Amino acid sequence: MLRLLRPKTDLRTLITLLAVASIVITLANSLYAAWRVQREQLITNTLEANRVYAAKLAATTGLFFQQSQSQLAWTAAHLSDRFDDEALLQAEVDRLRQQTNSFNSVAVVDAGGWVRAISPESLMLKGMKLHSMSSREALEKRMPLIGQPSLSAANNLIVFISRPIWSGSGSYLGYVGGTIYLKRKSVLNELLLSQFYRDGTQLYVLDRDNRVLYHQDGKLIGKKIAPLLRHDAGTYASSGYQQIKDERGVPVLAGYAHVPDSDWTIIALKPTSTTLAPLSSLLFQVVQHSLPLALLTLAAAWLLARLIAMPLWQLARKASQMDEQDAAIEISGIRSWYFESSQIKRALLSGIGLLQNKIGQLKSEVQTDPLTQLLNRRGLQAVLEYFTTTRQPFAVLALDIDHFKRVNDTWGHDVGDRVIQQVAQQLKNSARQTDVVCRNGGEEFLMILPGADRELALTLAERVRQSVQDLAIAPVGETTLSVGVSLWWVENEPIEACFRRADEALYQAKRAGRNRVMAATPPEASEPLINEGPISR
Ligand code: GH3
Ligand code: MG
Ligand code: MG
Repeated sequence: MLRLLRPKTDLRTLITLLAVASIVITLANSLYAAWRVQREQLITNTLEANRVYAAKLAATTGLFFQQSQSQLAWTAAHLSDRFDDEALLQAEVDRLRQQTNSFNSVAVVDAGGWVRAISPESLMLKGMKLHSMSSREALEKRMPLIGQPSLSAANNLIVFISRPIWSGSGSYLGYVGGTIYLKRKSVLNELLLSQFYRDGTQLYVLDRDNRVLYHQDGKLIGKKIAPLLRHDAGTYASSGYQQIKDERGVPVLAGYAHVPDSDWTIIALKPTSTTLAPLSSLLFQVVQHSLPLALLTLAAAWLLARLIAMPLWQLARKASQMDEQDAAIEISGIRSWYFESSQIKRALLSGIGLLQNKIGQLKSEVQTDPLTQLLNRRGLQAVLEYFTTTRQPFAVLALDIDHFKRVNDTWGHDVGDRVIQQVAQQLKNSARQTDVVCRNGGEEFLMILPGADRELALTLAERVRQSVQDLAIAPVGETTLSVGVSLWWVENEPIEACFRRADEALYQAKRAGRNRVMAATPPEASEPLINEGPISR
């Protein structure tokens, strides 16, 4: 057979690879998409939750300041007509501190800055003059104030809230003021620090100067820190969120809100890494859920690839063996269950049919030898034309009966004819379905073996020679043949030269003693199919 260059990969491998690649890519892509969506969702949800949390605390803190202001307002109104009643002033500041529970201390100060009443009395400030910033501010501005947090004499961080007291006639009498100790137990403290640590969330309360007023880490309270939020346009308006870094440089998701009454900012933040921690287990679950179906699909793809590739693979294998005896039957047996394979199958079958029809057609009378019913030279010419146009390589056997003159001389011409007939029949019997046998004239024959390489041609030649020798034709007895073998391949030489080489090989077989097969010398620029030198059997 011809050794054509065969590509290494086959259709089944290609289809399987394609299926595996698309499944793997799809799976990876959906995993990535799930990861992206989950990540975005976790981040957005956390940002929004922190914003809502900060906004709620800001609103409650604002409400606290408004309540404190209205409590002071009530006292200011109550005292406006009786500012000289020392006992009333003391009773009122005591009531305000103890009843409302908003303030750590409450004082009434007159327009000159002298303390007229204070609760608790243990502070021992009654009758003293106050020089603090917030006291001076209250006296100067004569309006309701919430002061900036400041350090008290006792090193307490305090917020001072005041309300002016006007007399009935409209003259300024002084103010009533309350202090809130930010580190000490107070309603505000309770409010802000009661839920300070939810699932890794930290809370910062900062004043206008970025000083920490509340934080779960007590050491930070009172310290000024670098601004946490980026001051984008409008961010300080009410509330919002930002992805920022905390003071240690850790990326965090921050929600913030502004307390307008006191000009404070409340920031709730959670480390991004803590927020995204559940992501890997979520992803693992996605893989777990999609893996069984993906594996099932892979198995199905592999099976389907086999099913699709099978008929084509079988047809391709048979295509290289079309000259074999039962090729047509075997090709008919291949299950071609889809369009392309069934078309190729039909094409192969009709190809075989054509080859055999063609040969059949050639066996018309003009091309047939009357004595042997083999093709004559003219018939052979037509066959050769067919092979050259279809570029079909072949081997040529030139056969000649040994010492035939003796047969004629000994047994007469009629016996000679019968010997020729029987040898011809034997040649046909030993030939393959697609081989062409031809009577070249006299007791000389030619056989054309399409697709045969040197090995096969020599084997077939030897088989033919042996089978004729075994015939023992009556009454002649053993009849022998000498055979010359040459190969023809499309590119190299004219067909005539190839026949000449077969003849030369035959002549050498005769000279070497007859009843043998001899291979021809290959042409100069030989195809690798044709081996060197004549060999004798
Ligand atoms: P070898 O080939 O072994 O060298 O010896 P050979 O005796 O066969 O020699 P050659 O090929 O020269 O002889 C062929 C003979 O075959 C010559 C001819 O009389 C005879 N012949 C040719 N055609 C026919 C035919 O149609 N019928 C018969 N009976 N004899 C034929
Ligand atoms: Mg002869
Ligand atoms: Mg002869």
